[in-house]
Amino acid sequence: MADERNPWEVALSQLDKVAERIGLEEEIHERLRHPRRTLIVTFPVRMDDGRMRIFTGYRVHHSLDRGPAKGGIRYHPNVTLDEVKALAMWMTWKCAVVNIPFGGAKGAVVCNPKEMSRGELERLTRRYTTELMILLGPEKDIPAPDVYTDAQTMAWIMDTYSMNVGYSVPSVVTGKPLSVGGSRGREEATGRGVVLTTLEAMKELGIPKDGATVAVQGFGNVGRTVAMLLYREGFRVIGISDSQGGTYNPKGLDVPALTEHKREAGTVVGFPGGEDITNEELLALQCDVLLPAALDHPTTGENADKVRAKIVAEGANGPTTPEADSILYDRGVFVIPDILANAGGVTVSYFEWVQSLQEFFWSEEEVNSRLRDIMVRSFHEVYEVHMREKVDMRLAAYILAVGRVAEAFHTRGLYP
Ligand code: NAD
Repeated sequence: MADERNPWEVALSQLDKVAERIGLEEEIHERLRHPRRTLIVTFPVRMDDGRMRIFTGYRVHHSLDRGPAKGGIRYHPNVTLDEVKALAMWMTWKCAVVNIPFGGAKGAVVCNPKEMSRGELERLTRRYTTELMILLGPEKDIPAPDVYTDAQTMAWIMDTYSMNVGYSVPSVVTGKPLSVGGSRGREEATGRGVVLTTLEAMKELGIPKDGATVAVQGFGNVGRTVAMLLYREGFRVIGISDSQGGTYNPKGLDVPALTEHKREAGTVVGFPGGEDITNEELLALQCDVLLPAALDHPTTGENADKVRAKIVAEGANGPTTPEADSILYDRGVFVIPDILANAGGVTVSYFEWVQSLQEFFWSEEEVNSRLRDIMVRSFHEVYEVHMREKVDMRLAAYILAVGRVAEAFHTRGLYP
């Protein structure tokens, strides 16, 4: 049994499970159990108080069988190499499940961005980028934002890379600001993808859209977008939470007013249009859709039996532990797995890369319509495996993704 606290062990056990299920050749299985490359760097940064501090950074390429390495960079004080390896492997599957031509990667710097000035963060980003120069490039490795990194961080990476090679290379990162070649629709893409897959699931399960109820856990980029889009679709958003707690209204929350409240108060707690609840209570709300979109607070073996939603649409990465997964499956809860549900972000990252390479930019309508095509198609491809193989949607998504990577590996053959 994998140690559920170690993400790399969880990732490996997921791969092993699929490998067994699809009878994956041992050689390919063994190959995919090891990241293609792992770069560990230590580098100095001059802090505002004049002292020099050494930071540790990572960049992991899991598989490059289907294309260049794609994956975010996170800044976090507790990030570990095992976590980065797991996240890189999940990126491989995520890109494969929506069939975009990338391999999986992830990067991180061990630091606490909340305690650093903008100048310190810029120097740290530029030096980390320079340390990564041997890996980066539009045909090699294209980073994106992740936890505690944003469009500004990507602009610094793009500028540093460009300074090193001597000319502007916007296609070396995605998630950058519009002013330096970002894509329209990128900010909302993940949430939009979650909504698209949720709507398809509801159609398949015969749950009517009008008046459908939803509880959203987390009110950041993904949670806010999802709550707003579903509110506009006519859903009753009955509960929303953030790290400090939640708010509940069985008649439906006024999401625009709640957004305003969160902007002013810094939390959804204390919203006059709802009553305060805990995150644990939010998880247990009777609703059609539960939407985990938080950084923390997964559904575990301890609380999975409290979930009363018909659908769990995983906006967040890894919000359900393997133990919780089997409890939800046994109880008939339909889980749309993270590698499918939240793949809208990397899909529009792919669009951004394509636009940057061509230096030809699309309208927001065009981005959204292409995103819809990919998300709806991918949902049905996974759903078809789920029905045919009689497995849960997560295993179905993995069967599809691992199969696609294995096929690419096979077709390319072994070098030399
Ligand atoms: P974010 O930082 O914008 O928002 C995170 C939210 O989670 C905040 O509202 C925070 O208050 C809340 N939160 C933290 N701890 C919580 C807890 N214990 N209970 C309830 N809420 C809590 O982050 P984001 O970009 O919205 O990402 C959310 C999740 O979605 C992450 O797992 C991320 O990896 C995943 N994801 C994001 C994207 C993207 O494009 N932003 C893409 C794919 C996956």
